[in-house]
Amino acid sequence: MRILIVEDDRLLGEGIQMGLRQAGWQADLVSDGLAARHALASEPFAALVLDLGLPRLSGLEVLKALRSAGNALPVLILTARDTPQDVVAGLDAGADDYMIKPFNLGELTARLRALVRRTAGRAAAEITHGELRLDPASRQVTLSGQPVELSMREFDLLHELLNHAGRVLTKAQIEERLYAWGSEIESNAIEVHIHHLRRKLSPELIRTVRGVGYLIPEAGK
Ligand code: CA
Repeated sequence: MRILIVEDDRLLGEGIQMGLRQAGWQADLVSDGLAARHALASEPFAALVLDLGLPRLSGLEVLKALRSAGNALPVLILTARDTPQDVVAGLDAGADDYMIKPFNLGELTARLRALVRRTAGRAAAEITHGELRLDPASRQVTLSGQPVELSMREFDLLHELLNHAGRVLTKAQIEERLYAWGSEIESNAIEVHIHHLRRKLSPELIRTVRGVGYLIPEAGK
């Protein structure tokens, strides 16, 4: 499998390339954001190691373009920018992992392996289910392209059910995913949120499994 490294510090880039090759990957190196975009458009990579501070096009712009094109390639940001804002911006733009320079090469390769493993699931920042789209970063939901206004809890509940599409979540499992320790939960809160979601989205989307819990069937089922 091939990894694309985007790094404008040549010595560092070549060092990562050598390390990844020793770990059994095919590793390609480009040194600016535009070259990265061209490479990503034409070659089938298994993962991307992305610097943020790059000539011509920033790493964040490369990442956003990749995700808005629907590309779910696992992305690990490798950067010297270590403020919480930088980390949040990178993860919210669709990065799967984040490492701060200086870094350990063994850890980088282990994280890449984990990312590629997980790609069997879903790596895109947005979750789609039929005509429904949910963006965890912006917390926006659209149905057939139209924005749907959801409360914080409704959004979180929908997000959990979509994350577990095809599996039943019990009321208790939903509650422990939606509420922090110590939160007050009305006994019928989940039922009320489900009711609102059905009204706002579709009566058929969320199924009640009597005596067990709720599920959103996998798309197309
Ligand atoms: Ca750089």
